[in-house]
Parts: sequence; C-alpha cells; structure tokens
Amino acid sequence: MENDKNSQKIVDYIQNFARKQSLFVLAYGTGCGAIEIPATMTSRYDAERFGIRGAATPRQADVLLITGYLSTKTLKRVIRVYEQMQEPKYVIGFGSCTINGGMYFDSYNTINGLDQYLPVDVYINGCMPRPEAVISGFVKLQELIQDGKANNGEKYRENLEHYRTNQKKIIKNWKMPDYNW
Ligand code: SF4
Repeated sequence: MENDKNSQKIVDYIQNFARKQSLFVLAYGTGCGAIEIPATMTSRYDAERFGIRGAATPRQADVLLITGYLSTKTLKRVIRVYEQMQEPKYVIGFGSCTINGGMYFDSYNTINGLDQYLPVDVYINGCMPRPEAVISGFVKLQELIQDGKANNGEKYRENLEHYRTNQKKIIKNWKMPDYNW
C-alpha cells in the first residue's frame, strides 16, 4: 500500500514536471498589454527557454492569456475559447484591467475582475506589465503546476453554475453551445 502511494507520488511528480516545461499559450490580445507579448516571446526575452510557446487553436492550448481589459462582448468569445480548451488548462490575467478593471473600472461595458467569470490561476499586475513580469507570472504558474495546485479547469467544471450565473448577468444575448465534456 505504502509502495503504491510512493509510486503514485513519483508518477505525479514526473507528469507535473513535464507539463510545466511545455506550456502552449493562446494569447487573447484584448488590451494594450498585448504589445508586450512579441517582446516576451522573441529573442531578447526568449520565453521559450522556459518551455512557453504559442498555440494555434484553443484545442492545442494549455494556457489562456488574457492581455488586458475585456468588454462584455469580448468576454463571451473568451468564455467560448476557454471552454474549447482541453484539461488541464490554465488562465493568466495580464494587467491591472483583468484584476479590477484598471482605468476602465467604471466603464459601462468592461468587466471588473476576470475571476468572477473564469477561473484565473495567476494574475500579473501592472499597467502594462513588462516582459520580466510576464515571465515571472509564468514561472509562478509552473510552480503551481509542479505542486499539483493548478487545477482550476476541474474547479470550473465543478462550479459551472456559479460561473454561468455571473456570466449571464452581464452577457445578455447568451446564445452559445453548452459546455460539453
Ligand atoms: S492594464 Fe493598462 S496596459 Fe493593460 S489593458 Fe489595462 S490600460 Fe492597457
């Protein structure tokens, strides 16, 4: 029995180690912060050193990177994208606008607090965060993955009703296919 537990721990460790070293990122460039992504990914900061690279479609992505303010119209598309991603999946909120609305906090059509609508694993603060901060956010996510603490995809599924209620409060014309696992 004890041996089984130890073997499982070793398997989990190797699995999490592999996962954290290979993060395919779908960057949803919603706000001005998106301008920092090319610098982060190209030769000067070279995020691929950390196993961070771009993904072409939601179904190939591990990480959804939201790079700034979100209008309610865009939020609908972001939710659809997130729900098409396979688990394990992670969300990074990039910039103050994703945390509390930033300078758009009292705008009539942008959201305040991305985590009310999607499960955010890591926030990167700043307006706009520099590439060093972006990489540091990814390293934080990698630590959570290694420790087995980045399981928000599962939590989203379990608490879908809570998220749906919040999402439908502000997205009035809700016509989307059901989240289908
Ligand atoms: S946090 Fe600043 S840089 Fe980022 S989207 Fe908001 S206003 Fe733009």
